[in-house]
Formats: sequence, C-alpha cells, structure tokens
Amino acid sequence: MLFEEPEFQALLLLHGRDRRKIGAEAELRDLPKVLEVVKNKIEIEKETIASAQIELRELETKASSLGNQIASIETKISQQKTKQLEVKRQEEYQALENEIKGLQDQMSANEDDQLETLMKVDDARATLVIAEGKHTDRVHSLEKQLEELNERDTLLRQEIGELEQEIKASGEEMDPTFLREYERVKKVVRRPPYVVPVEDQKCSGCNLRVSNDIVSSILVEEKLTVCDQCGRVVYIQR
Ligand SMILES: [Zn+2]
Repeated sequence: MLFEEPEFQALLLLHGRDRRKIGAEAELRDLPKVLEVVKNKIEIEKETIASAQIELRELETKASSLGNQIASIETKISQQKTKQLEVKRQEEYQALENEIKGLQDQMSANEDDQLETLMKVDDARATLVIAEGKHTDRVHSLEKQLEELNERDTLLRQEIGELEQEIKASGEEMDPTFLREYERVKKVVRRPPYVVPVEDQKCSGCNLRVSNDIVSSILVEEKLTVCDQCGRVVYIQR
C-alpha cells in the first residue's frame, strides 16, 4: 500500500507542516487588523468617559454661573429698594418699583433654571460614576486582549520559524520525485489542503467523485495520484 510507504508518510508529514505554516502566516497577517480593532474600542471607551466628564463640568459651570447671577440680582434689588426709600417723586418711585419687579421676575426665572440644572448635575454625576465603573472594566479587558494578541504575535513568529526548519528538513529527507510532484500540485491548487484522502470514491478536497482509473491508480498501480477534478494528491487510507 502506497499509503503505508515511508515516502508517502514523509509527504503527509511535509503537507501537515506546510498547512500549519500557512495557517500561522495567515493569522499573523490578520493580527494587525485585529489589534487595530481592539485599540479603536479602547479609544471609544475613553472618549465616552471623557464626554461624560465634559457634560458634568459644563452643567456645574452653568449652575455656578446661575448662582452668581442670582446673587448679583439680589444685590441690585436691595440697592433699588434702598433708593426707593430716598426718592420723593411718585414717578421715580414707580420707575424703581417696575425695575424691581423686572429684577424679581428675572431672579425667579434664574432660580427655576438653577434648580433644573442642579438636578441635571446630580444625574450627570451618577451617570459618570456608572460609566466610569463599566468602562474601566471594559478598558481593562480590552487591554488584556491587546496584551494577549501581542503574545500571540511573538508565538506565531516563533512557530513559523520552527516550521520553516522542519519543512526544510522534510524536503531534504523526501523522495525527490514526490517532492517535485508535491511542489507542482501546490502551484496548481494554490490553497491547502494539497494532499487529501478519497472517501466513498469522493475526493475530500473538491468533494467530487473520482474516476475508477484514479482509484485503480492508487490501489492497484500504487502510484502517486492526483484528483482528475481538482488536481490535489489523493490517497486511500487502508
Ligand atoms: Zn479533487
């Protein structure tokens, strides 16, 4: 049986190493994209906290400015009331009365606004506390992911280096005819797997039925055979 021959087993070993190397290289190639996605997520989390902080600060500033306005209106009202005591003419008294009334209306509007703003400050502060807790946890787990991805990068490079050595060793130990045929198949097929078993007379690479000639080439002639549909090396495991 060709399948049991050391030459064929060597081919399967090389194929296994090749596939692992191709897989590791693909993962390494995609790693920067994955890293970028995680980094962006961290940025978004940080921006969310920052914008909650800005909102709170703006509301606090507004509340304090309203407080100042109210205090200054109060001062003005008491000043005008003092003036009122000093004026002699009725018109002047009335004019001050109107002015005081306007100031009082303004103050009452400011007080309403201040109350509403202070309630918003409380809400914003509570939101920020929750957001900070939640986002800090999320940022922490994202940073951990980032760390793991960097470790994965190192590991993959190491693995690829080792596989290159092993592939080189495999090639040197292999039957040159098999190696040439395998290299040719790799160019034709382009994507792994390059060596596949035939099961129920179907090539497990392309899932198509192989001809009886192919089966006989494998089992009777015991030759290195390729699928007549997809060009992969096919074998029967028996
Ligand atoms: Zn096939």
